[in-house]
Order: sequence, then structure tokens, then C-alpha cells
Amino acid sequence: MTEDKGGNKRSDGNEPHQHQAGSTTHREEDQWKYRPPYRIHEPGDQFEVKWRGKCHCGAVQYELSREKPLASKYCHCTTCQRMHGWAAIFHKTDVNFTRGHHDLGWYDPTARSTTHHLPCKVQCAYCRTPVMDEGRNMILLFPTLIEGINTPAGRAAFQPQCHMFYPQRVVDIRDGLPKFKGLSDQSPLVDEETGEEIPGSGPKEEEEGK
Ligand SMILES: [Zn+2]
Ligand SMILES: [Zn+2]
Repeated sequence: MTEDKGGNKRSDGNEPHQHQAGSTTHREEDQWKYRPPYRIHEPGDQFEVKWRGKCHCGAVQYELSREKPLASKYCHCTTCQRMHGWAAIFHKTDVNFTRGHHDLGWYDPTARSTTHHLPCKVQCAYCRTPVMDEGRNMILLFPTLIEGINTPAGRAAFQPQCHMFYPQRVVDIRDGLPKFKGLSDQSPLVDEETGEEIPGSGPKEEEEGK
């Protein structure tokens, strides 16, 4: 660093030019860009595209490398009623954003804040289409964005396996799928007509002493 006659500090080119637009930053809050699901895949990466999805305006686009989600579920809890109820679970490494992945908006429903704090809801920052829920380990993708979801192959691949938090539903769903009182496989089953618990149908919602 040198000073000119006016006393202004001038860089000799060895220090990072942090005041310049476009210079690299290493802020902790930017680290998400370099981790799945937001890390952009290189052309040589092993990534076989099985599905593509995009938001309503097309600013956010992604590819999926997995033929079928790990699970597909409808959630009737009051948060999902307001935000998005049908989710397909994928590994974070199964998704590759090809467009707009730096134009995403966050919503953390626990703190009701718009920061990228997991678990958080992820939207297109422009058209506000809900894209997914990003959990700590997995992503819960909203399948209605996927190209071909309304074809026989799309419906078969993303066929939901169950309903969760069914007693909180706003409409009855008579599709014969298992209906859980709370989280799937961690709560008792309920009747799809009445929403009443089926006695002896599953684990108690909360284990004592937990
Ligand atoms: Zn959009
Ligand atoms: Zn829910």
C-alpha cells in the first residue's frame, strides 16, 4: 500500500481489492453457494439428468439426477397448508440448478425471518414460486414445478405414499393412502373419513422421557 500526494491510500496490487464490485468475498453467509444443493455442477461431473424443473417465470431452473424421489408425501399441517403441501424428498446432491440459483429467496418458518437458516423455504426471488424446503440434510422439492409431472411417467415417479398431519386437513382426501396423525411412521394412523386415530395403529406421538 502506498500513499499519493493527496494522502489517499493506493493499492500496489498485492492486496485484495475488496471495495471493487465483483471482487471475491469469503463471507460465511455466502458459503451456501459452494455447497449442495446450490453448488453448480461442472461439465465433467457425473450427473445424469432424469427430470427438469422451473419456477413460473423461468428465472430458476434445475435438473434432477434421481429417477424417483426417496419419498413423496402430502402434509396437512397448518404451515404446509399456507406454504406448500406436497413434497418429494431428494438428497441435496441430486439437484443441479442450471439457472437463477443465486436469485432465490428464503423464508425460515421457525423464526419467521427471510434468512437462509435451515430448515427454510426456498422460492424464486422474482415470481415467488415455492421451489423447495431445504432441510439440514435433505431437500423437500415441490413436484408441481417438474416438467412432465402431469404425464403417466411423472405421476408414477412422484406418486405420494401417504398423508401427514391429516387431522389438521381442510378437505377430506379419499385416496386410500395411509393417513398419519403427525409425521409418517412416527405417529398413529387415522381414519380418512373422520380423522380419528385408529387404535393400536402405530407409535405414540411422543415417547415419554424424550
Ligand atoms: Zn420465477
Ligand atoms: Zn407440514
